[in-house]
Amino acid sequence: MHYAFFSDEVSPGARVPHPDGAGAGTDGGPPDPEAARMARLRRRMAWPLGGQEGADATERGLDHEELLALTRGDLIGAIEFGHIYPVFQPQVCAQHGGIVGMEVLARWSDKGRHHAPDRFVGSITSHGVETLLLDHFLGACGRVRARFPHYTGRFSLNVNPSTAAAAGFVQDFVRASISHGLDIARIVLELTEQTRIARDSEARLLENLSALSERGMMISQDDFGSGYASLQALGLLPFKQVKVDKILLHRARHAERARRLFSSSMVLARSLELQTVAEGVESPDDVTLARSLGADLLQGYAIFPPMPFELLQL
Ligand code: C2E
Ligand code: CA
Ligand code: CA
Repeated sequence: MHYAFFSDEVSPGARVPHPDGAGAGTDGGPPDPEAARMARLRRRMAWPLGGQEGADATERGLDHEELLALTRGDLIGAIEFGHIYPVFQPQVCAQHGGIVGMEVLARWSDKGRHHAPDRFVGSITSHGVETLLLDHFLGACGRVRARFPHYTGRFSLNVNPSTAAAAGFVQDFVRASISHGLDIARIVLELTEQTRIARDSEARLLENLSALSERGMMISQDDFGSGYASLQALGLLPFKQVKVDKILLHRARHAERARRLFSSSMVLARSLELQTVAEGVESPDDVTLARSLGADLLQGYAIFPPMPFELLQL
């Protein structure tokens, strides 16, 4: 399966259109009912329960008090019982449109309520259960591999740098990958939230990522161009891929400066021999823009939304 850039063929992603949850408004335009309908469609794709209730319940996520009250036991239970589970968002080659990778993203559904990862991944990290989550997600990748033996692309998993810097992370990760039948060279580790970490952790992070990189794993810098995802980290850590923050692509739609910033990031990445990913590709215009700015891979609602295992087609 591929995304059709050049033909009249309807691409799989095009049947599940894109817009951002807010739909209209992101570009400063008036609310657009069609965009809202598409946004509901997208959310339904991302939540396996499906149905209108499922989509609407997304809005009622964990509130602040519930977040604070979460215990380590709650999180372990949610992972073990499958309430926290992965969805998969394919990435395509900007040249030929073929699926070459997929990002694994966390969702939490419980008692008819759905929580977006922004609400709970911080707790997963702070309670020290991210390695357990990764183990489960690697298991899910193993099931994708078994269901689609012809799929030879990569699996991208997100990890907070503090988890990746922990003692024993390399052994645990490699052991889990092998036990789920995954070739380590097909795994991409996306480093999220480049929060400032202590000097000693920085040294361990470098050590751990270098060890994984030597085993063939691809290390990716997520959200490049935003917050802490810095040039400094690009120089320090053994990255082989950069994902440009979607905000930059969205600004590049209208702002020449953002376009230059985006394409300069591509030049920089190329000079460091890094693969580049444009994320947040939400429309055919975004596809054209991201390709013209030089991204190697494309990811976004216009191509494929995040999909639960049951709806994945490769
Ligand atoms: P991220 O790693 O930058 O992931 C991409 C986010 O963009 C995802 O949001 C995805 O659903 C969304 N997205 C995909 N296509 C488009 C598009 O065309 N337009 C727009 N506007 N957004 C798009 P999601 O799934 O809500 O995840 C949010 C963040 O939560 C992720 O950002 C990542 O930082 C974190 N996260 C998600 N799953 C995990 C996980 O398993 N572990 C860790 N550590 N972090 C995770
Ligand atoms: Ca990511
Ligand atoms: Ca990102």
